[in-house]
Formats: sequence, C-alpha cells, structure tokens
Amino acid sequence: RTPLNGIIGYLQLVINELYDTPEEAREFLLGAQQSAEHLLTIINDVLDIARIEAGKMRLQPGETSIVAVLDQVQRLVRVQADEAGLQVEYQPVDDELTAWCDEERLRQVLLNLIGNAVKFTPAGGRVAVGVQRRDEEGDVRFEIRDTGIGISPDKLEAIFCKFVQADGSTTRRRGGSGLGLTISRHLVELMGGALGGDSDGEGKGSVFFFTVPLHRGGEGRIPTSDGNAAPVEGHGRNRPLALVVEDDPLYRDYLCGLLEQHGFVTTWAATADDALLVLKEHVPRIVTIDYSLPARESARLNTGWDLLVELQRDERLAHTVTVIVTGDGEVLLRRLETERLPSGIEVISKLDVPAELPGAIERALPGGPDGRHSRILVADDDPHFRLVLGRLLEDRGHELLWAKDGEECLRLLEVAADTIDLLLLDLRMPTINGYEVLERLHQLGSALPVLIVTAFPEPETIEERMMLSGGGLTRLLTKHEVLSDPGRFCELIEHSINSDGQD
Ligand code: ADP
Repeated sequence: RTPLNGIIGYLQLVINELYDTPEEAREFLLGAQQSAEHLLTIINDVLDIARIEAGKMRLQPGETSIVAVLDQVQRLVRVQADEAGLQVEYQPVDDELTAWCDEERLRQVLLNLIGNAVKFTPAGGRVAVGVQRRDEEGDVRFEIRDTGIGISPDKLEAIFCKFVQADGSTTRRRGGSGLGLTISRHLVELMGGALGGDSDGEGKGSVFFFTVPLHRGGEGRIPTSDGNAAPVEGHGRNRPLALVVEDDPLYRDYLCGLLEQHGFVTTWAATADDALLVLKEHVPRIVTIDYSLPARESARLNTGWDLLVELQRDERLAHTVTVIVTGDGEVLLRRLETERLPSGIEVISKLDVPAELPGAIERALPGGPDGRHSRILVADDDPHFRLVLGRLLEDRGHELLWAKDGEECLRLLEVAADTIDLLLLDLRMPTINGYEVLERLHQLGSALPVLIVTAFPEPETIEERMMLSGGGLTRLLTKHEVLSDPGRFCELIEHSINSDGQD
C-alpha cells in the first residue's frame, strides 16, 4: 500500500493547494506519477506470482538471440544506472549465440537481476554482466556481479521467498516488492534452467547466476497431454522398479539403460505431474529426478523440486532412494540445506552420473537385485514389537514397510504389492484385522508369502479358524517364539521369501 499512500498524499497536497510555486506543484505531481509507476510494477509482479502459482504462466520458448536481448536490457538499464552513478559492464557476446527460451521472460529475469545489482550498489561501484556458452552442460550461463551492499549468509536463501527482503529499511529507501527473485527463479525453472545467488557477506558485493538451455531438448520438450509416461511392464517380485523422471528422451534412455544393467525394470515420466501418476500406482526402489523439468500449462507440479517435496510427504516412499540429477548441483544443495528437507536425497550433477549413479543404485539395493535382502511389509499395531522387529530385520539388510493397522496394510498392498517380498501379519489389529487381510489376499489370488506373528496362538472363533485355513498362509508364529529365538525367526523369514509362497 506504500505507493498508493504516496499517490493519495501527493494528490491531496495539489488538490488542497498546499504548494508555494507552480514548480513545487509539478514536483508533487511527479511524485504521484513515480509512486503510480512503482505500484504498477508491484501489481505486475503479484499477477506473475498468481499466474505461476495457479500453473497458468504461459511461456513461448523459441530460438532467442542473446545479443539482441542484452542490447535491449542495456538500453533499459542505462537511465537507472546513470542516476545511481554506476557503471554496468557487459561482457562481449558472440553475435550468433542463441538459447532456447522465452525472449520476453529472459529479458524480465535479466532486468530484475541487473536492476537489483544497480539498486543495491552505492554510487561509484561496479556491476558486471557475464555470459558463457557451456556446451557440455548444454546451457548458457548468465552471471551478474556487483560490488554493492552484499547479503549476509543467513539471508541468502530467504530472499528467494515471496515478499522477503533482506533488510526492510534499505527496501523502504530503495523500493521493490520482494517478489522479483521468486518470480525470476520460477521463470528460469519453467524455461528449463536454474537460478541462484551468492555473496561473501554484507558490504562485500553479490553475484546472481542462472542458466537457460542452449537447445530445444528434442521433440516433446514441452509436453502436450499424452504419452509422457511409460507403462510399467514386466516387473515382479524379483525385478525391482526404477522410475526415471526426465524430459530429454536421449538422456532418459541412457539412465534407463544404466539402471537396467543393474537389474532394474525401468519406467519413466517426462513431467513431475506424470511422475506423480506413476507413483500413485507403484512404489519404486529408486527414483531419479531431473531438477529442471518442463511443465504443462495446467500442471499441478511444475518443477523437479515440487516433485521432490511431494515424494518426501508420501510415507509409502520412505524407503525409496531419491536421486536428483541436475546441471547445477551447487544451487540445489544450498536449497536442500536451507529448506531442511529430510536427508537421504542424493544430488548428482549430470557430468558425474556415470561415476556416481552406480553407487546410488547400490544403496537402493543393499544386497543387489539378486541378493537375499528383501522388502518386508510389517502390519502390526504394537509400536514396541515393531521396534524390535525393525532392529532384527534391518540389521540383516532387509527393508521394512510399516502398516499400523489392517486398513493401511491393504492400502500398501494395493499400491506396492509387486515390490513386497513378504508380509508379516499380526492378527488382532484395529480397523481391519489380520483375518480379513488374509481373506482379501486369498480373494485376489495373491501368491505373496505371509508369516503370521501373533500374541495369541489360538484362533478365537470358528470363523477365524476357517479364515486361517483358507488364506494363503505360510506359517504362524507367536510373538513369544520370535523373541525367544530371533535367529531362527530370521532364517524362517528368508526361507519364506525364497520359497516364493509355495511352502
Ligand atoms: P525486491 O528487489 O523487489 O525487494 P527481490 O526479490 O528482487 O525483491 O529481492 C529480494 C531482496 O534480496 C532484496 O530486497 C534485497 O534485500 C536482496 N537483494 C537482491 N539482489 C541484491 C543484490 N544484488 N545485492 C544485495 N541485496 C540484494
């Protein structure tokens, strides 16, 4: 509301003739005009943010001449820089250099970053704009360096958040909405790049950098509606599933090939939204995510980051190894640190994939795809017993999924049955009890081995007894038996898994 108050205030002065000379009246009107222009930029920013958040930001990517964009930016910034008593230096750029992006949005990002550098650098300082074509990364990298007021390390990531300004007092002097960097980061990510900033501290200048892709990423880079995810075929209990989220078909084939060499069945998705659809149906052991994903206009999730946040929220995926593949690992690592996502997310730069991805794959499969280590679903409402089981089985390299009652157990079986090797089932649980779970498995014709672990060895009623004889039961153990001879229990588990439900 600050600029609006300015407009009203100046107009009041003029309307009430509170000026001494016509020149002074003109000055008040100019003040009102400046405030109005400021208000216009804020409104434009707010509209941009609203569009981005609603997934309605429309980009028009195309072959964009970098020299042409920089020329326009230079002209637009000159007045502001002259007023501030600053030199802005532009590194010479090859006339032929082009990038694959939305020209207007590229100009907007550059104007925002260079405008900030000018705004936050005192007279006599220097602002330098560098451009680098990086063939190996397949992008063009822009860098805007200034000798201005700098940013303290604890504020560095926060300034990318909506409406945040490092220091309210400087902003009141220098204007702005605190939206520019947020918008710029979103725009750059929508164009398939990444944006970050750095500073050695207050008073020590700042540097902001971002990338845009050099080339169009093959057909379907900005996907339409169909054909952006592969069907999952042919993976059973013995072939673990890997999901590759990557829009570039060549790179996707490469990653899928690498994972298949390690014994995975692979599937892929080209956008974060499509990946979410795959994840609704399946629980992969490993997911690789390209950080810079394109999004459809109506997308719910726009970027690799959005997908990552979604993955972290889904408890079914607690044991899924997440690997982010990115062109600019540094920006991402800082973001992971400051936004405190749970650890366990691996970040691998595209250049390091051949050397580092196999290690991540090994971690996804403690015993290798053919090893005896397995994924076991434990359905038991007793947290203490679950803790003991966890210790016993995880120590032997097995991976555990938990269900705190029968309902959750059935839900997990529905979405993840083909990645589960064994069900450890308690009989008396809230919501749906173990007998009903068995009956359901039986109806489905499931071959999943089940080991019943119960505190009460005897079925209580005739119906319970009938259900037990009808279900796909492998063995029944009492909790007392488990606790008194854990070694035998573990052997039994491994035997049940290997006998593949035939026992
Ligand atoms: P605005 O500039 O409209 O306040 P931005 O999102 O562009 O919003 O920037 C957010 C904050 O980041 C600024 O208020 C300022 O505190 C800090 N900032 C941005 N660029 C620089 C820079 N080059 N030097 C110092 N601080 C900066």
